[in-house]
Amino acid sequence: TAEISEEVRQYYEGIKNRNRYYLAKAITLVESTRKDHKEKAQQLLSMILTNTQNISNNNNYHHHHHHKPTTYRIGLSGPPGVGKSTFIERFGMYILSQNHRVSVLAVDPSSSRTGGSILADKTRMSELSQQEDAYIRPSPSRGALGGVARNTSEAIILCEAAGYDVCIIETVGVGQSEIMVADIVDMFVLMVPPAGGDEIQGLKKGIVEISDLVIVNKADGPLANSAKEAAAEYTSALKYLNPVSTYWKPRVISISSKTNMGIENVWNTIMEFFKIMNESGELQRRRGDQRTLWMWRQIKSILLDRLKEDEFTRKLVNVYEKKVLDGEMTFGAAANNIVDRFMNKCTVI
Ligand code: GDP
Repeated sequence: TAEISEEVRQYYEGIKNRNRYYLAKAITLVESTRKDHKEKAQQLLSMILTNTQNISNNNNYHHHHHHKPTTYRIGLSGPPGVGKSTFIERFGMYILSQNHRVSVLAVDPSSSRTGGSILADKTRMSELSQQEDAYIRPSPSRGALGGVARNTSEAIILCEAAGYDVCIIETVGVGQSEIMVADIVDMFVLMVPPAGGDEIQGLKKGIVEISDLVIVNKADGPLANSAKEAAAEYTSALKYLNPVSTYWKPRVISISSKTNMGIENVWNTIMEFFKIMNESGELQRRRGDQRTLWMWRQIKSILLDRLKEDEFTRKLVNVYEKKVLDGEMTFGAAANNIVDRFMNKCTVI
């Protein structure tokens, strides 16, 4: 194993001491595409992993006493304008009042700052962002969605190591991002507007299907009635979908992020979910499955990078690409040849 650099040790100590500066720098490290940054990030994450396990395997009462064994990874998705940031501001403040510490990370798939993207973080969650026990991370710079989600899952580990036991991963419910986010969180929450009928039909079935909790926001004032109708429609829609878990039936809750109505109910429901998932062992199983899934995604991405970096293969690819382009060879045969040659080269080395 490589020697741990002084710098990585410093990051580790900083994070353990709940120093935001080091947490921010460490997250930047996991988001970086630079090879030396990636290596340091992996060293840091391994160090955290090793020490976390030491604590949970340690029978020493004092260690247990100071270390909260449970962390809560919650995904929140919903269309732009549904009230995600308003909700997180209120919900986050409530979580703090329950003696938890909360971090908020964003997975933003949009290519521009307009339309569906998550707004600049300074203007959002102004009260929550000023709290000592809250950490709000601006959306990472653009990249392939899979990479962004993977980096976010590593950022969660850093936030947890810094003592933020509740982590909210926010994503705009457009495209594939919510599916990726579901692969890095324990509980997936979908926020919907108080509209019914056709609009529910229009909502992608796939998202509702993976939701452990559906929140109908803006159930206040003149919208209260349509919120009630929407909640009833989601409740019946969920009845016909296969639940993700055998232990948990997805719920629907109406809230108002404006008046705080239902915020406490959301938190209690989330706590109930985690209690059930913890006691049944499904939480640990899910996390294990997720780690394996990301390992395989990482293997694919590393292999592809190595293949593309390899000079001999690159020459080969040019030749085969032309054959495929001209219709002289099937794409399947070309792909097989390229990979076979690449593998042979590897064994020679
Ligand atoms: P996001 O794009 O999902 O983050 O949505 P925002 O949090 O920015 O909210 C969009 C708009 O909806 C803002 O004008 C909010 O003030 C408003 N809003 C958010 N929550 C509620 C609510 O519970 N009731 C009402 N009436 N308006 C809300």
